[in-house]
Amino acid sequence: MAEKILVTGGAGYVGSVCVALLREKDYEVVIYDNLSAGHREAVTGGAKLEVGDLADRARLTEVFATHTPDFVMHFAASCLVGESYHDPILYYRNNVANAANLVDVMIEHDVRAIIFSSSCAVYGEPVRVPMTEDDPKNPINPYGKTKLTFEHLLEDCDAAHGLKSVALRYFNAAGATDELGEDHDPETHLIPIVLKVPLGLLDGVEVFGDDYPTPDGTCVRDYVHVSDLAAAHESALGILRQGKSERINLGNGNGFSVLDVIRASEHVTGKNIPSKVSPRRRGDPAALVAGAGKAADVLGWQPSYTSLETIIETAWKWHKEHPHGYRD
Ligand code: UDP
Repeated sequence: MAEKILVTGGAGYVGSVCVALLREKDYEVVIYDNLSAGHREAVTGGAKLEVGDLADRARLTEVFATHTPDFVMHFAASCLVGESYHDPILYYRNNVANAANLVDVMIEHDVRAIIFSSSCAVYGEPVRVPMTEDDPKNPINPYGKTKLTFEHLLEDCDAAHGLKSVALRYFNAAGATDELGEDHDPETHLIPIVLKVPLGLLDGVEVFGDDYPTPDGTCVRDYVHVSDLAAAHESALGILRQGKSERINLGNGNGFSVLDVIRASEHVTGKNIPSKVSPRRRGDPAALVAGAGKAADVLGWQPSYTSLETIIETAWKWHKEHPHGYRD
């Protein structure tokens, strides 16, 4: 019988791509999403959508009792560094308190295996680049602190209740599939913002800081394709089946600066993309690049999209077809 996976946030950007992959592989999928950031149109492949909020214990309990999942993949979260400074309570509520509800209901229903969308933000300002999983974790913004706090909660629930967890620490999710792409409101992520210029929706890009200690002075990030992230989630189910818990970085192991992204986007789109330097954005480390060795060793995972231009090409194709996101 097919394994059944409950996917919180399965109507969101990374969650929806993961759901589509799971359905292709014939898993049964139930999505739990409050549609605050997710999109009904992003639910594909015959996955079942249960609209609900993680704050709503009664609804969660009903969904667990109805569907009796074997595993949980937990994507639903607030995920903007800037917003987390202005409204830390929202972040602790969604990413810790409401997520604790989920774990509580899982344990009540004897579901003891979860894959958690964590973040490289748990490390804070890296002590070295590339960063490996055992490096110090000193998150510098409320968002990263909530992700690390939930990792700690999972570790404590492993010890207390035998709850097994794989925390996947994403670097910068990017790109799109033919059907599914990145649609946030407001959009704050670099690649979709840059692509708004050739779409005629923005006049130019603001580069947040050019005085970082990086080769061209702009921040360096590790962009990893959303389909590769999805594939890693499926592989991580194998760790849970073995009754193990792990923390694993998901990145390409290559860093690209903000200016590299703008230049690559000009090349992909064939359009000039004007930019101007603005002040630094609060909470941005200079360079975040994954040490990707553990993902290869433990998950057998190798990203298939390793070129920045190819990743941007997939995003460009989707944004050209959906210039206003799923509203198109
Ligand atoms: N960035 C920028 N201009 C923008 C949006 C982002 O210069 O309009 C920079 C941002 O400061 C960071 C990098 O691009 O250094 C990636 O930012 P994004 O928000 O995409 O991802 P994050 O690294 O915050 O997860």
